[in-house]
Amino acid sequence: MDNTAALLRQVYQTENRVTFPLSGTGSSGMEALLYNILEPGDEVIIGVNGFFGDRMLEMAHRCGATPVPIRAVWGDPIQPARVKIAFNEHPNAKAVAIVHAETSTGVLQPLEEIGQIVRDHGALLIADCVTSLGGVQIDADARLIDAAYSCTQKCLGCPPGLSPITVNDRAWAKITARKRPAQGWYLDLKLLNEYWFGSRAYHHTPPASMIYGLQEGLRVVLEEGLAARQDRHVRNGEALQAGVQAMGLALLANETCRLPMLTTVSVPNDVDDARVRGRLRDQWNIEIGGGLGAMRGQAWRIGLMGAGSTAANVLLLLSALEEALRAEGLPVEAGVGAAAAAEVLSREAA
Ligand SMILES: *Cc1c(COP(=O)(O)O)cnc(C)c1O
Repeated sequence: MDNTAALLRQVYQTENRVTFPLSGTGSSGMEALLYNILEPGDEVIIGVNGFFGDRMLEMAHRCGATPVPIRAVWGDPIQPARVKIAFNEHPNAKAVAIVHAETSTGVLQPLEEIGQIVRDHGALLIADCVTSLGGVQIDADARLIDAAYSCTQKCLGCPPGLSPITVNDRAWAKITARKRPAQGWYLDLKLLNEYWFGSRAYHHTPPASMIYGLQEGLRVVLEEGLAARQDRHVRNGEALQAGVQAMGLALLANETCRLPMLTTVSVPNDVDDARVRGRLRDQWNIEIGGGLGAMRGQAWRIGLMGAGSTAANVLLLLSALEEALRAEGLPVEAGVGAAAAAEVLSREAA
């Protein structure tokens, strides 16, 4: 347990003592941080620019907090100026919750400026790092992230089932100063902290096999190195994005902030979304995601996460997608996507 926590601190790039995996997928981390930090009536500013921002909003309502949503068009990041305005209107807001890597839209949210604004207002920054951890560097301490949660099955490349969290002293002080215990006993962070770093007295049966799996996954991440791992994700993401654009397809995320590990592509007119995905799955053994929430039927979500982020996967996917689009009657020039991707890959390798 101590070793897993120490490895997790390295991957989050934090000194935070309270850093450990919760028993549950990424959503359990979302619920744990919101439910432990927020008390009924607390105002919380929430960035809502995708499916997972909506989920945080729903959870904030359920724990009796008063959410203040700041919205952006799906595909755009949340602008720091919007956070400032929200604080002007709600100076007592306890926290700002924001998604670092919005898996529904393909947006990588810049956090530096927002982190400083949140700190200047004495509030807490809660970051959803479910898709970013293990793909791009989190740098939790430098980015002034007070509390973050993630999952094991995305860029960490482990089996699903745990939610690694990290909580700094500022956030921990708010959690321990609560007037009433956190709603929900299973994810009560005070109790879980006691198990992980205190008496180790039984709270709930630890999913030991999952924890061993995470420990090994973290070792693999650190063996590659965080910087090298980020470079790999960026290189392959850029190659994929160049390839789909060369095939005449449009990307949905704002080009200033595209995620390398999750690319959203606009489904072309006259192309059957489900049929293309089915063909990729049945003929090529490749699964890509359909659109979530408001983007249902309009977007493809192509993941290149962890061990899946390889040049070979990029080239295979582009060839398979070309074949599937031609089957739909779309005139895609043969090999054009793979050629564009190969150019990015060879340029960056040079
Ligand atoms: C996947 C995801 C979640 C939810 O994680 P689960 O492991 O499916 O519970 C939350 N936020 C983001 C940004 C995600 O991509």
